[in-house]
Amino acid sequence: MKTVQGIKEVRKQVEKWRRKGLTIGMVPTMGFLHDGHESLINKARKENDKVIVSIFVNPTQFGPTEDFAAYPRDLKKDEKLCKRAGADLIFNPEASEIYIDDASTTVNVLGLSEGLCGGKRPVHFGGVCLVVSKLFNIATPDKAYFGEKDAQQLAVIKRMVRDLNFNVEIIGCPIIRELDGLAKSSRNTYLSIEERKAALILNKSLKLAKKAINKGENNSQKIFEIITNKIETETLSKIDYIEIVDSNTLKPIETLSSSSLIAIAVYIGKTRLIDNFTVEVK
Ligand code: AMP
Repeated sequence: MKTVQGIKEVRKQVEKWRRKGLTIGMVPTMGFLHDGHESLINKARKENDKVIVSIFVNPTQFGPTEDFAAYPRDLKKDEKLCKRAGADLIFNPEASEIYIDDASTTVNVLGLSEGLCGGKRPVHFGGVCLVVSKLFNIATPDKAYFGEKDAQQLAVIKRMVRDLNFNVEIIGCPIIRELDGLAKSSRNTYLSIEERKAALILNKSLKLAKKAINKGENNSQKIFEIITNKIETETLSKIDYIEIVDSNTLKPIETLSSSSLIAIAVYIGKTRLIDNFTVEVK
């Protein structure tokens, strides 16, 4: 496994693989890798001849008051995980390799980017779409792997790929959790011991909602209240949003239907965490 920083080096390697007729899977990440990322790499490993993992804390997807500078980074540890999971190439560029000072092109997926996280983080999905477009153009993967943990991101990327005819198949992968239910996230490292306990409220509130749905509740407002009331029992938490939407359009729904997404963002102290589940109502 090799780590490279330059676009040219990625292209050269990809060209060699292509000449041999090999298929390429890509896993875009911001590094500080955990089991969630590893599950994506494992899936890519199974489904492709070669696997590229990109590790790039993308400045354009962070707002001015967000945690770009503080975002955790540990390339050595990431390299070990990638090697163990069977990646072939890590692309770890500097921002100056990816962004040109006088660039004038933006990539925005309208509508889908506007609610949920996009509503709270207005520049986020523009930055995500721009960097993912660039990564696809640099590495030209056959398949690219994204986590369902970032459900809106997955929907936005799928739409971007469809709308712009990117020649790549987007594969969604299930949320990987800690044993106690907290969704794995690089940002969990920000949590103090007390906050780490408090963070369980995200998954607990979603579990309560799931239980109510399994018993037949299909009213979005009721589900919203169940989640809100549960989260509010945790004094360290502050709700950023609770959304009950159609999982394809990401538009709010009044009644749960065939494929509904229940997504939440909650501050635990200063750390913003997200979680979600998709419910299939027959
Ligand atoms: P990030 O490094 O946080 O930008 O995440 C890179 C990719 O890993 C994204 O597609 C995420 O959705 C995915 N990912 C992050 N955490 C998890 C998790 N707990 N389970 C599954 N996928 C995840």
